[in-house]
Amino acid sequence: MDSQSDTKITTEAAVRAPSSVPVDDAVLPFEVAELDLRGRLTRLGPVLDDILTKHDYPTPVGKLLGEAIVLATLLGSALKFDGRFILQTQTDGPVSFLIVDFQSPGRLRAYARYDAKRLKDGQDSGTLLGKGHLAMTIDQGADMSRYQGLVALDGGSLEDAAHEYFLRSEQIPTRVRLAVGEEWRGGDGSGPKHRWRAGGMLLQFLPKAPERARQPDLHPGDAPDGAVTHSVTEDDAWVEGQSLIGTVEDVELIDPDLSGERLLYRLFHERGVRVFAPLPLRAQCSCSRDAVSAMLKSFAPKDRAEMVKDDKVVVTCEFCSSVYQFTPHEAGVEE
Ligand SMILES: [Zn+2]
Repeated sequence: MDSQSDTKITTEAAVRAPSSVPVDDAVLPFEVAELDLRGRLTRLGPVLDDILTKHDYPTPVGKLLGEAIVLATLLGSALKFDGRFILQTQTDGPVSFLIVDFQSPGRLRAYARYDAKRLKDGQDSGTLLGKGHLAMTIDQGADMSRYQGLVALDGGSLEDAAHEYFLRSEQIPTRVRLAVGEEWRGGDGSGPKHRWRAGGMLLQFLPKAPERARQPDLHPGDAPDGAVTHSVTEDDAWVEGQSLIGTVEDVELIDPDLSGERLLYRLFHERGVRVFAPLPLRAQCSCSRDAVSAMLKSFAPKDRAEMVKDDKVVVTCEFCSSVYQFTPHEAGVEE
């Protein structure tokens, strides 16, 4: 972290006022030291629009994939090494599969698979996903171990799933907010132009004394009737943190005219909030003609032969919709 660009904003001794300039496509890390809170705020504009419009998704699918992109950005931006954070869902709902690939320090790509016939008005994220699981993988490269966390999805939202993941796997008190919206702005006279926007916030309670971070169990599960369940009183600082993030409205997270710093100041100014250097994000796929060619060569000769249509092999990247064309010879198909 570049300490030169750290800025402490407190009521008593503000180094400077919160900037009113909105910054899109970035992650803004912050700290509320008085409450032992750390967090990250993200705003996504052109990056999100670029990923979603390449696919021309129906609105509910775009919105759900947008939420997944915000969540993966909030989690992946914590990586301190070269690596990737991959968020995937596999479920029985109208959106049966989605994947977000976050490559450090800030490269994003994503896509979703869905059944257009099962889409109906008014379906929320939980209904669109249905039942199945959410997998989060941290991949640090070929020689390193992969870490995977799994959470069951059972009709709840991605926010719910993230909370369960942190409670069960990481055991760090965490709250997450995700919001995706559509913006219509006047274009060049040809009518309003549609754009996707999103925002999100992650807040974690990281006290020095670990016993302060104890959390109540989700539910007693299949404990026998009458079993004593542990009642854990949450730390006052974390109770306050949760109640503050609980006041954040979707419109504040996606408002193109409200800067991230102003939003953080609005929430935490009574305690003092310090922001760190923002991390820029970009939409970029990692596919290439060479990589696709190598993938083709890994198939069995018979499978390669079956891919030839009209004397060529055409491969479309599911992430970015790039089309790669090969002659049968280039694709390694024997005459
Ligand atoms: Zn691609």
